[in-house]
Amino acid sequence: MIVTAAHAVIEGEERSDVWIDIREGLIHEIGDGPHPSAERKFTGTLIPGFVDIHCHGGGGYYFSNLNPDLIAVAIDTHRQAGTTTQYASLVTADLDQLKAQIETLIPFVRSGELAGIHLEGPYLSRAKCGAHAPELLRAPHLDEVQSLIKRGQGTIAMVTIAPELEGALDSIAWLASQGIIAAIGHSDADADTARAAIDAGAKVVTHFTNAMAKMVGGQSMATEVLEDSEISLELINDGTHVPVDVIKVLKKNAINRTILVTDAMSAAGGNDGKYLIGELDVEVKDSIARLVSNGALAGSTLTMERAFINFINKDGVDIVNAVHASSTRAAHVFGLKNVGSISVGKKANILHFDGKKIELLTF
Ligand SMILES: [Zn+2]
Repeated sequence: MIVTAAHAVIEGEERSDVWIDIREGLIHEIGDGPHPSAERKFTGTLIPGFVDIHCHGGGGYYFSNLNPDLIAVAIDTHRQAGTTTQYASLVTADLDQLKAQIETLIPFVRSGELAGIHLEGPYLSRAKCGAHAPELLRAPHLDEVQSLIKRGQGTIAMVTIAPELEGALDSIAWLASQGIIAAIGHSDADADTARAAIDAGAKVVTHFTNAMAKMVGGQSMATEVLEDSEISLELINDGTHVPVDVIKVLKKNAINRTILVTDAMSAAGGNDGKYLIGELDVEVKDSIARLVSNGALAGSTLTMERAFINFINKDGVDIVNAVHASSTRAAHVFGLKNVGSISVGKKANILHFDGKKIELLTF
């Protein structure tokens, strides 16, 4: 099938009046101008499908569910909002429970419906636990981390670790040596410890400035990761998690390393009301999820569509950088060769953005 579009972001460049030839789900050829055999014509901008590396669920359900049918609902909810490459994040749980959750997700990774599993916990700081059950947090002793990874049979793609915990740096170095992304976050680390984690191989910061010391009052984890030139910074761009001045700093100093994530809890794509995150009660009001116990933010109700549109329409980010942050950077960091941009040879994961909403194209 050949489609034409008024605009498209192609390999990091915005182009006008392009055609794309799609064959068997792959991008076969891209050219300029009209095309005599065009079957569909789009008046907005074509962009690559979103890659979400941090998401707990949606449509009312969690990826931690042991019922595959409900996991499929969560995947489809985000797919309809443009996420064509989905990682499934699991919050802190008892180790046996966590292993059961991992095993339930393995078939989804094998089939390609999920790109991989992200363990956000249990190796987090009690002082910065957010919506993770503090009594279940543990130190990341290498042998235990290795046994969890083994349980995933190659499907665990990222593990978030607070680098100040005993065994953290060894675990980060080992994960990096295995091609698994070590992320740092939910951490009380100072700047030097954050630096040591980066030197050990950490590649991602879990939800930058949430659940860590802020960028005020001298050197901190947040300032250290901002100053680095390589590490990628997850951003929950829902207008609540991260203040506008932090987004301004990211735009100025780290736009090429920013990765938009949803960190969505089960209410994403759903309604306000009472929910659970792990075993903890959450209330969603005006789309903001907070723990009932202490009012702490408990994940977002974002879809990638909202995060992307906020980035453009509220934060004033240009579409090329917004595409980089919502697709290209994550694909690059996770070594995904066939997604992350509209390029010849890649999957035809293409979205149409009309300035207000996203439509997932099916061919
Ligand atoms: Zn978190």
